[in-house]
Amino acid sequence: MYEERLDKRQFDELRPIELETGVVPNANGSARFKIGGTEAIAAVYGPAEVKPKHLEKSDQGIIICKYDMMPFSVPDRAKPGIDRRDMEISLVISNALSRAIMLEEFPSSMISVYVYITQADAGTRCASLTAASMACADAGLPMRDLIAAVAVGKIGDSIVADLSKAEEDYEGGATDIPIAFLPSKDEIVLLQLDGEVSKDELKKAIELGRKEANKIYELEKAALKRRFTYESKD
Ligand code: UDP
Repeated sequence: MYEERLDKRQFDELRPIELETGVVPNANGSARFKIGGTEAIAAVYGPAEVKPKHLEKSDQGIIICKYDMMPFSVPDRAKPGIDRRDMEISLVISNALSRAIMLEEFPSSMISVYVYITQADAGTRCASLTAASMACADAGLPMRDLIAAVAVGKIGDSIVADLSKAEEDYEGGATDIPIAFLPSKDEIVLLQLDGEVSKDELKKAIELGRKEANKIYELEKAALKRRFTYESKD
């Protein structure tokens, strides 16, 4: 039984969120997304010439993504360099972004997305996706929608939103279900499952994910509006 969360949050309560765009002056677009003790910074470059050339597609653009955790992002220093986990997360981010960005508008070109985790307390792939989509919007790339992502989990019999690392590890491990939406299209662009759930629990998890993603979506729109208002005053 998991009736009270370790940090006393409600089951549908996200950790405190900070979200801003334009944090990397040298990039075409950038964003910082912080949720509790997890922070992602995303920087976007392009559309630019495809390198290496053999990756080029004549009818659409391509996205390459690099996800990395800073050595100081976790209590036990994260090993520098790219491991299998980094490669997997880079791939799921670029797959999800491919559904959000109108790649057909950029034939024979490449968009590069770099995401760095400065603090990790679970949910980094979801934080990365939210930050990366905001960075793409900040870069002015045409998009079908923003991405709003959250890790839902099952602890005991309870389905809860936005797991912390302590919750992920609670009593032998929670079931971790990262979910990402294009909220206005009600499309799921990422759904992973690490653990076991019944069909009904999975449905419940997706419903909770949708509700939480909508909360994040409102914050994303507000952050872009702030950026736009700020720029129009210059
Ligand atoms: N983590 C860590 N060291 C690592 C990789 C992960 O301490 O080398 C922690 C970190 O808090 C991360 C969490 O384990 O957020 C869960 O990682 P997972 O692979 O499930 O992906 P995430 O939940 O971050 O998307």
